[in-house]
Amino acid sequence: MLEKIDQAASALARARKTVALTGAGISVESGIPPFRGKGGLWEKYDPMKYAHISAFEQRPDEVWKVLFSDLKTVMKKAGPNDGHHGLFRLEKMGKLQTVITQNIDGLHQKAGSSDVIEFHGTFATQSCTICQRGFITEQIDLAEIPPRCDCGGILRPNVVLFGETIGYDQLKRSQILASTCDVMLVVGTSATVEPAASLPVIAKRAGSYIIEINPEKTPLSYHFSDAILLGKAGSIMRKLVSALEDIL
Ligand code: NAD
Ligand code: ZN
Repeated sequence: MLEKIDQAASALARARKTVALTGAGISVESGIPPFRGKGGLWEKYDPMKYAHISAFEQRPDEVWKVLFSDLKTVMKKAGPNDGHHGLFRLEKMGKLQTVITQNIDGLHQKAGSSDVIEFHGTFATQSCTICQRGFITEQIDLAEIPPRCDCGGILRPNVVLFGETIGYDQLKRSQILASTCDVMLVVGTSATVEPAASLPVIAKRAGSYIIEINPEKTPLSYHFSDAILLGKAGSIMRKLVSALEDIL
């Protein structure tokens, strides 16, 4: 393992442009459960039933009750962990330009990362589904579910639900970064949710070195990853950053 971490660190040391792609796994140590993988919400219920736009359109009260209110509670308590801190540290060292995250929890920004592409939007704010008025999630009263705007419209988080399209600017910029980076650091994603899952593929085809951090192997591990660092995001990022500090 140490040898692999050293190889990954020297790829980072050589790189002129590094981009990170993160998924729900990087926030697990902050207390936010992922969908897939061990301990994931998928083990309790099928998120497609709740995290799909048609579920929200047909049964907004149920989606709020089962999914959104839980997320609100969990995210309120969560702070960044060593995975997020490690990526910020890489940025400070001039070794990471941008974080593309599939997460909606805002923890990269809380850790200090300055260029974060929120591929699936953010849970921190909500919009009225009728008049589009904006709300801060933490300030929403859940005494009545679903929560409503003064105009009567139901609120929804500003996230991309299954069945919805990724914002054009986020997708375009992420694809350009993927095709122009020397190293892509893929942390805590099962690499199965499209189109985010294609970003490492684009990067690899363009000649980029792929470093993957995950406790389990993923579809990427077999054909795309150059260095597979098996383990939790927090401890692996700590080791990777300190290996890089030794080289620089
Ligand atoms: P995912 O597809 O990215 O899968 C989670 C991955 O994290 C798995 O491969 C798992 O092995 C890995 N993992 C588990 N613990 C880890 C750890 N300690 N360190 C590193 N990796 C670890 O994500 P998903 O859960 O299938 O979610 C799909 C989408 O749902 C996300 O892309 C996001 O839009 C949304 N979601 C977001 C959050 C969040 O914002 N924190 C949480 C759940 C779901
Ligand atoms: Zn309204």
